[in-house]
Amino acid sequence: MDIKALIRDIPDFPQPGIIFRDITTLLRDPQGLKYTLDLLSEQCAPLRPDYIVGMESRGFIFATPLAYQLNAGFVPVRKPGKLPAAAYSQEYALEYGTDRLELHKDAIPAGSRVLITDDVIATGGTAAATAKLIQQTGGELVGFAFLSELTFLKGRQALPDVPVISLIEY
Ligand code: 5GP
Repeated sequence: MDIKALIRDIPDFPQPGIIFRDITTLLRDPQGLKYTLDLLSEQCAPLRPDYIVGMESRGFIFATPLAYQLNAGFVPVRKPGKLPAAAYSQEYALEYGTDRLELHKDAIPAGSRVLITDDVIATGGTAAATAKLIQQTGGELVGFAFLSELTFLKGRQALPDVPVISLIEY
């Protein structure tokens, strides 16, 4: 199945000059959604994760069914101030300014195997910040899985040296 054909390109969103890869058209397609989740779990299974970490908010969409299929737990990484219990916080650079991501301190037991999942890797800033959060927990980062990769932004270079899975590339 051609996953790319189900992703819609939106020019000049959220800013002029950016082509946004809109995955809502893939998510609403019953066969496309099933195929994508099956392929993702097939490719991630050999990494044997105990926990799938997904980043707010599109990361949640893929991380939770992936966790279900791999008999792993799902752990959310959230924007600042959303998590109710004690959390680690990691700042990261945006094109203009900075942002922060947070993770519950007790979410990942030390030594457990952790896979980070998001819909898209662009510059890699979001995924790299999430990896730093995992490092603080003492969990073992075993890989990253993305639905799509904007290869021209070289996001992989920002990530630690573990396997990086992406189903489609732009
Ligand atoms: P990065 O931190 O790698 O530069 O950006 C990745 C984050 O931005 C991901 O959380 C992803 O959801 C979002 N993102 C950036 N570009 C796109 C895009 O074209 N389509 C979608 N769906 N998300 C994007």
